[in-house]
Amino acid sequence: MEAKIPDEVRAICKQLKARGHEAYVVGGCVRDLLLGKEASDWDVTTDARPAEVQKIFPRVIPTGIQHGTVTVLMGKKQFEVTTFRGEGAYTDGRRPDAVEFVRDIAADLARRDFTVNAIALDPDDGRIIDPYEGQKDIARKVIRAVGVPLERFREDGLRVLRAARFTATLEFDLDSETERAIGPSLDVYRKVSQERVRDEWVKAMKARRPSRAFDVMRTSGILDVTCPEMMEGVGMEQNKWHAYDVWRHGMECLDGCPGDPILRVAAMLHDVGKPRSRAFSDKTNDWTFYDHERIGAEIAEPICTRLRFSNDERARIVHLVRNHLFHYTSEWNDATVRRFIRRVGKERLEDLFALNEADVRAKGRDATPDLSALTSLKEHVARVIAAGDALSTKDLAINGRDLMTELGLAPGPILGKILSALLEEVIADPAKNTHETLLELARKMKS
Ligand code: ATP
Ligand code: MG
Repeated sequence: MEAKIPDEVRAICKQLKARGHEAYVVGGCVRDLLLGKEASDWDVTTDARPAEVQKIFPRVIPTGIQHGTVTVLMGKKQFEVTTFRGEGAYTDGRRPDAVEFVRDIAADLARRDFTVNAIALDPDDGRIIDPYEGQKDIARKVIRAVGVPLERFREDGLRVLRAARFTATLEFDLDSETERAIGPSLDVYRKVSQERVRDEWVKAMKARRPSRAFDVMRTSGILDVTCPEMMEGVGMEQNKWHAYDVWRHGMECLDGCPGDPILRVAAMLHDVGKPRSRAFSDKTNDWTFYDHERIGAEIAEPICTRLRFSNDERARIVHLVRNHLFHYTSEWNDATVRRFIRRVGKERLEDLFALNEADVRAKGRDATPDLSALTSLKEHVARVIAAGDALSTKDLAINGRDLMTELGLAPGPILGKILSALLEEVIADPAKNTHETLLELARKMKS
């Protein structure tokens, strides 16, 4: 097993030991090693103080000296070397106010969050230090806090969310006492910055089934703090098309939507507008959700802003929620498809198709969901794109500069408006996409 540890990490530990120090790999990488998984990053822990670590290695970055962490550069790679430490007092529910270095590895492991993350391994001789029975919990597939769960969760508000996230990424269950400690720790969780929460969401999205994490967040109360909008769909019955309530449908769609974390956030939120648009129809004797995609986009936007997703990420999520609903039929002609592509944007079609497929599958009604409409739409879209007709104002045979020089228009929003109107004409009839025809049309629009 130690054979999988990178040479650079072995070299770092060897050099520390040659100077009379202890050195171990520790934390997530040991856990992943024991699970036979690829570790994402390698952390080394040592009794050497940061100043000594800096002296031993020629290329270092003093990443977090006050927290005992030095980044050692080996070739192009970076490794964090952290001095054994205990934990000082917390006032913000997040970072200890001061760190206290400790003498032995067991004391360092004691401050770590979960037993599966509190195992150290000496890469030299393969010795494992596991005072909290992390290996046993790995075998049982259990996330269990080191020490008293309630104390550990109240020290650092992020830990409850890490617990939820690990249930998904590791596909482990929460130990029951650990799970029970989440509720009484939510006042501390509340203080965690939204960026940290978002980072955990994104990490959870890399799991095979991220819904495990969000189900823990739902039942434990974490989501009441972070995203009450999602809670509105819990237990909300839909209509004859759906086997699941709004919440479960969102979770099934999330799990069934492969792709990057941002697409998966959109899949999770795609029906977030349903609870606020639900109405009973006497005509169909069933529930309806008119306009839920528009209402959903309005709800998703502030959620993304609050969680500090970047402007691009937010735009992508909101756009997918806004456009997730479409019903392709044989009545769609080429112009309908061109309009669809224009609205969605060529570069976002693939996301939308992936989301739609997951959405259809997540209805849970049929053993073999009917994807024929989606397949036909994809084919029709491919045909229309291959035809090469204009789909955006950039594809027009005229541009803003032409409008200014030939029609004497001044720069300003009017140019965009005219180009947009011209595109409408060309989408309806691609034959109009010539310089002369468009100029003539623009002249009429001007007057
Ligand atoms: P991954 O990198 O796969 O997300 P990880 O367990 O490596 O998971 P990191 O955030 O990289 O998580 O942290 C490395 C180690 O530091 C953890 O394994 C754990 O031992 C410790 N640790 C990280 N965050 C906390 C925390 N909030 N409270 C206590 N210990 C923590
Ligand atoms: Mg890690």
